[in-house]
Amino acid sequence: MNTLAGPILRIVYVGLSLAAALAIAAPARAQAEPVIDSAPIPGYRFGEPLTFTLEAHSGAPITRVSLYVRASEDERTFMGLAQFVSSEQVTATYSFDPHQRTLSAYTPVEYWWEVTDSSGTSTRSEPASFVYVDNRFDWQSLETTDGRLAVHWYAGDAAFGQAALDAATNGYAGGRGLLASAQLERADVYVYKSEADARAALDSASPFWVSGYANPSGNSAIIVADPATPDALSQVARDIPHELMHLLAAQSNGSRLQGVPAWFNEGLAQLNEPAPDPDDAALLANARAAGGLRALAEYCAPFPGDPDDARLAYAHSAAVVRHIRNQFGVTKLSELLAAYAGGLSCEAGVQEALGLTLAGLDQAWQAGPAVAPGLLLNDTAGGWLVLALLVGVVAPLVLLLGLGGARPTQPADGR
Ligand SMILES: [Zn+2]
Repeated sequence: MNTLAGPILRIVYVGLSLAAALAIAAPARAQAEPVIDSAPIPGYRFGEPLTFTLEAHSGAPITRVSLYVRASEDERTFMGLAQFVSSEQVTATYSFDPHQRTLSAYTPVEYWWEVTDSSGTSTRSEPASFVYVDNRFDWQSLETTDGRLAVHWYAGDAAFGQAALDAATNGYAGGRGLLASAQLERADVYVYKSEADARAALDSASPFWVSGYANPSGNSAIIVADPATPDALSQVARDIPHELMHLLAAQSNGSRLQGVPAWFNEGLAQLNEPAPDPDDAALLANARAAGGLRALAEYCAPFPGDPDDARLAYAHSAAVVRHIRNQFGVTKLSELLAAYAGGLSCEAGVQEALGLTLAGLDQAWQAGPAVAPGLLLNDTAGGWLVLALLVGVVAPLVLLLGLGGARPTQPADGR
């Protein structure tokens, strides 16, 4: 008897205790699972802390609430412990300081919560997102019918907004004419009335914004134009295409402009303005005559801070990129950008795409019209005139073909 009863009883006992354990555990787990009742987009006034709020309940007292925040340009995820009174039902808050976390204006931000109760069970919310808009102003908005381009302004009337949208439409088309494969899903341009108004947004930008005014990670740009001034419309027509070009260049470079030399980035952006700056030629000619032109290699890095030096840097860069487009053809712009996106240095990119040294490129553009308007007829146009005369004597048909082939290298904007 004993030899049989022992194992049988033990099996029954083990079976009962397993069933009992399961019967107790199952309802307990369902009851203790924390549930997130609400996790709205945070309230904030631009530049001041963002207040994230969470409401949750659970079968056991909630003991820990964590907030996770990730800005789109940032590879790090921020985690902070929210404040609340431990209970089975809680309202937790976290005050997020945008300055301490270098949160840039107009950057998309993703956030989610994790709630843990005293039984050790956790729940994580689905990520939600919002754009960190500068909400100090009462923005009016217009966008293209396809929703790709939007402009926002708070000073000026509807006609001013329409002019900004027209500039965006033209700038986008022009930019795609320069970098055919580049495309933006969406771009938002914010028109501030003054530098003073824009300052806080621009300061928040560092270090993620490029050239001060374009934020590729948020596909957004800032320009400054006061509609009460006479040149506001021409500023909008010039600056919006310029900034959109930065966004397009960044987009075809993986949303980043790191590794793209400043001269190429700024030269491209200026090439997308409706017309070259009329003062550039004289500025460059005078600088060259005075021996004041810098080497192009100095403009691989960010431009100098001194306003006069910066002005020369912009003019120099515009002349070089215009020269590349005119002499090598527009597709070389994409090839050069791809070379830089692939990690080539300032010097090596030019060698790869154009077969020139950086110094050679710098000499080449100075032989062209950019440095002295009077040279225009003696430059490429003169060269083609000689060719046309030579070929014209031999075979008029070849002449026509020759000019047809030459057209892509002629200046398209009259310079
Ligand atoms: Zn720029």
